[in-house]
Amino acid sequence: MKIQIEKKIIFLLIIIFTTFLLFSDKTEKDYEKQRENMVKSQIKYRGIKDKAILNAMRTVPRHLFVPKSHRSKSYYDRPLPIGYGQTISQPYIVALMTELLCLIDSSKVLEIGTGSGYQAAVLAEITDEVYTIEIVEKLHKISNKTLRNTGYSKVKTKSGDGYFGWEEHAPYDAIIVTCAAEFVPPPLIKQLNIGGVMCIPVGPPFQVQNLLLITKKSEDDIITEVITYVRFVPLLRD
Ligand code: SAH
Repeated sequence: MKIQIEKKIIFLLIIIFTTFLLFSDKTEKDYEKQRENMVKSQIKYRGIKDKAILNAMRTVPRHLFVPKSHRSKSYYDRPLPIGYGQTISQPYIVALMTELLCLIDSSKVLEIGTGSGYQAAVLAEITDEVYTIEIVEKLHKISNKTLRNTGYSKVKTKSGDGYFGWEEHAPYDAIIVTCAAEFVPPPLIKQLNIGGVMCIPVGPPFQVQNLLLITKKSEDDIITEVITYVRFVPLLRD
């Protein structure tokens, strides 16, 4: 009698486990499809051609960087809340800013505003040296864990005010700021390599800002181009 009950329990557990496996595999396949669609209809369609960037966007599991409550919308053409009043950027903006950095596989990149860690993961698909700073301690902890769990442990993360950059590892070939500053932080210009570029939204908080591409031709020759209008959460100060 006892053996029969045990057998039934084991049988039931096997059924539950198999159903779980089948379901989770189906969900992952479905996300993969959504990701492929996102690349086609949002990224390629809007003119991003760089193969390394398209591959990165196809590879990074964006849904794992989005909180569970919004996961089903991960591949929508829009930013999404990640808690603490912050957002993960729209996929196209991630691709556009990455393209503006003109990365090669040996580029050293600094990101200001780790947020979910998604942009850092996209950068890490293209280059080996990625540094990222997040001012909200809790977001720093969560994104650090996500980056490690998704296989991007080579990304170096830090909690702090990115206004000051990350002096220890400077100079950088590229700097990407994913929050809007009211002016370009001088320490970031200083930490840029000669020939390096910085992509940064500049403008008033919670309004339309200019996405700027800054090229450091020499110590005193800095070129600024306006790329497009954007709307980012503000760069906070400690
Ligand atoms: N790149 C992120 C998007 C982040 S939203 C992603 O892929 O998900 C902007 C982030 O910048 C927020 O998490 C915000 O907390 C952070 N931030 C704002 N001011 C900052 C500062 N001074 N230094 C570092 N991070 C800052």
